[in-house]
Amino acid sequence: MLSDENIYKTALCLLKKFYGYDSFRPIQYDVIRHVMKGGDALVLMPTGGGKSVCFQLPALMSEGCAIVISPLLALMKDQVDALQSNGIPAAAVNSMQSDATNREVIEKVFSGKIKLLYISPERLLAEIDRWSSSLQISMIAVDEAHCISQWGHDFRPEYTKLSVLKQYFKDIPFIALTATADKLTRDDIVRQLRMPDAEMFISSFDRPNLSLGVIANYTEKEKLRKICDFIDEHPRQSGIIYCLSRANTEKVAKFLCKEGYNAMSYHAGMGNADRLRVQRLFLNDEINIICATIAFGMGIDKSNIRWVVHFNMPKNIECYYQEIGRAGRDGLPADTLMFYSYSDVAMLTHFVEESGQLEINRLKLRRMQEYAEAGVCRRRMLLSYFNERYDHDCGNCDVCKNPPDRFDGTMLCQMAVSAAVRTGQSLGMMVLVNVLRGVRLPALSEKGYDKIKTFGAGANLSHSVWNGYILQMIQIGLFDIAYNEGNHLKVTSYGWDVVKGLVPPVMMSRITFERYKKRSGTNIFEDRKASVSPKQRLVENLKSVRLQIARQENVPPYIIFSDKVVSDIADLLPTTLYEFASVPGVGEKKVVRFGRQFISAVRKFKGLPAVVPGFSEDVTLFLAERGYGIDEIVALRGLKRSTVCNHIAKLIQSKRLKDYGRFISPEGYKAIVSALESGKDLRHGSNDFDADLVPVALAIYRVFGFKTI
Ligand code: ADP
Ligand code: ZN
Repeated sequence: MLSDENIYKTALCLLKKFYGYDSFRPIQYDVIRHVMKGGDALVLMPTGGGKSVCFQLPALMSEGCAIVISPLLALMKDQVDALQSNGIPAAAVNSMQSDATNREVIEKVFSGKIKLLYISPERLLAEIDRWSSSLQISMIAVDEAHCISQWGHDFRPEYTKLSVLKQYFKDIPFIALTATADKLTRDDIVRQLRMPDAEMFISSFDRPNLSLGVIANYTEKEKLRKICDFIDEHPRQSGIIYCLSRANTEKVAKFLCKEGYNAMSYHAGMGNADRLRVQRLFLNDEINIICATIAFGMGIDKSNIRWVVHFNMPKNIECYYQEIGRAGRDGLPADTLMFYSYSDVAMLTHFVEESGQLEINRLKLRRMQEYAEAGVCRRRMLLSYFNERYDHDCGNCDVCKNPPDRFDGTMLCQMAVSAAVRTGQSLGMMVLVNVLRGVRLPALSEKGYDKIKTFGAGANLSHSVWNGYILQMIQIGLFDIAYNEGNHLKVTSYGWDVVKGLVPPVMMSRITFERYKKRSGTNIFEDRKASVSPKQRLVENLKSVRLQIARQENVPPYIIFSDKVVSDIADLLPTTLYEFASVPGVGEKKVVRFGRQFISAVRKFKGLPAVVPGFSEDVTLFLAERGYGIDEIVALRGLKRSTVCNHIAKLIQSKRLKDYGRFISPEGYKAIVSALESGKDLRHGSNDFDADLVPVALAIYRVFGFKTI
């Protein structure tokens, strides 16, 4: 078994080589060490926290193949693409591939050529008898492990069958990973996977790069206009708009298209082929905006989603956090905005009443609503919901950025309570607001509401502002909502006390109503162009380089490089191979494969000639210095063997490559040197030596004059 020090050194070296990072994130190394020592682990990290490295590095460091269980085909494909693009031998067996491909993959696994095999639970269980006896398996990783639990939000019955695995693989480590933190689910995972001694690794669930915002009480029209403004702040960037209903996803997408945006809808009512097509277009950055029901997102790892909007409030905080969590996985800033209204609450309450676990769902909805109405830092609320200590204001939520003023709301409350009482406490919020604002509607005059004293007493405030105040009154306990009586507002005893002036109610005002600039359809694009900074321009160029490569390689752009890496390239401005290799997130394989294109883009930007002289030789040197042999370099770069040998020869001659002995055997060298000394024609080689190596031998001979090495 490796010592701690060796585990650390090897892990760090592989992290740099394959992933291009210089250090671990908190917890990552702890997990790696634990698994390398044979222990089972349960890893809880938020989306984007860096779970993959926790099992992928131990897999690379161990003998045999790691089995990774993953619930969704699309996720498998994404992860395998990402691994392969980093030069890691990974593959998947699944129903998306032909039987022949699957058989080929399994053959490769058996011949030891694959380090990580992605597979669904059913497939693994079908093979388990054979594999457990004849295959060297290094570990079992269960990704999205919360799928095993009925308490979790993505329960998958086939996951529960995984409980037999431990019987087959007693002696190899199990590592379960999830972004769902609640204790019930956690315990369930450990119990069902039969790993009672698993060590728990929990990282902070904070996602500081996500900004949080909530807007209450907008009408649908206002929401749509706000969404346009919001999108304009994120030009050409990917985002998701979550809606509660299928119809809404289509309506919103249609509206946005009409306004000139690049949007499509996605929901469970669409055919499978359509859904896949929309998903693919989004992954490939060919459309920017998806209007989706919650069915969207679970199957994708797209790291460059820059914003998420909730058109309606989600049903609980877990769902909300998961959905906003899909933004900013690459660690760059991302913005989230949730719209919240009373009618959302009414609709969700209706769903809850029909659901199985009434009590718990009602409570969860209540907490969600409290979050939406909060007058304190939203991140504090979220993290306290997840039982995490967080004792300062975050500075990156709407409450922190725009703290509400507090004022004595006695007047407003008296007005509202009085209107409710004078109408027999038989009104829902919307009608009550109409009465307060004195809106002349036949339905109101029929009932004589236009005759009461408070009719129109609040006409100076807009509908939305009144909505907001009434919501607060409900929240602070002036009114109860009678869900079983058409959502009518009933005055509570506290409400009566307020009317009598016994207790002053503290209310909050928030400037939620920016006046909208008139949108000027076609001009937006022009305006944007004018204000693009040089760095942004470079980023755009680098992104189009990335897109071009992604198309050639047939993978989504974020698999080539995340937005974070692109942004770092634009900051660090690498103009040589070595500078490029030091950009975080650029592993060896990507240096070699994509270096030239990205460096050229940077050089053009800096006004340098696009081509670096001797670039191809630099690449060979880069690999040679990292211990690659001639044939490995040939395979990696797809060059002719003689070309690589010529590079090596030149590098020896210019004394840039000192470790020359590795490239030619003493016998091969001697044969070439004696042929040279006896005046033979070396150009065509002979049975005695390898013609490709002639320049290498000559270089050593010329520079050092050795007869033998
Ligand atoms: P998760 O699976 O937890 O959602 P990923 O494993 O996909 O997260 O990692 C999220 C992002 O963080 C990826 O872009 C990944 O390359 C990056 N990342 C992972 N580990 C590190 C590290 N040690 N240093 C810097 N970035 C890292
Ligand atoms: Zn805050």
